[in-house]
Amino acid sequence: MWKRFYPALRIKGLADLKPDYLLARGLKGVLLDLDNTLVEWGQVEVSPATQAWVEAMKKSGLKMCIVSNALEERVKVVGEKLGIPWVSRGIKPRKTPFKKALALLGITPEETATVGDQLFTDIWGGNRMALFTVWTTPLSTKEMFFTRIVRRLERIVAKQLRKKGIISD
Ligand SMILES: [Mg+2]
Repeated sequence: MWKRFYPALRIKGLADLKPDYLLARGLKGVLLDLDNTLVEWGQVEVSPATQAWVEAMKKSGLKMCIVSNALEERVKVVGEKLGIPWVSRGIKPRKTPFKKALALLGITPEETATVGDQLFTDIWGGNRMALFTVWTTPLSTKEMFFTRIVRRLERIVAKQLRKKGIISD
């Protein structure tokens, strides 16, 4: 019952996800969550470290697409800044936004990873699509009131993940 929320990989930030690692797994692209993954919650500023990571990914030939539940205007700003396509107003964990992103990139679920900071939207949605799911630590502690409530449930799942050795932090 909880397995659907288990990520395939746990990272502390995008810098932990190396292009070579993804390529070695036969992956061709990554679908990226926006809030608290690419930028701090509700922001559009991209840190130099994130910018450098995106450039390194591009250089390695990996495709990227932002998949966010946020509104078009903000997602667009970040997408244009980074030079990558985006899907906004996604309603993750529904499959539709992920499917749209895969169509935009022209890759299959088996060739795709997804990175996000929330188990019940990013990871669940990614698992429903059979993507390689990567759970990252949120960039900031600021988030929606609703998200903060959901985090309590997330901590319950995280406890199980620790017990099973899927995560160590
Ligand atoms: Mg997020």
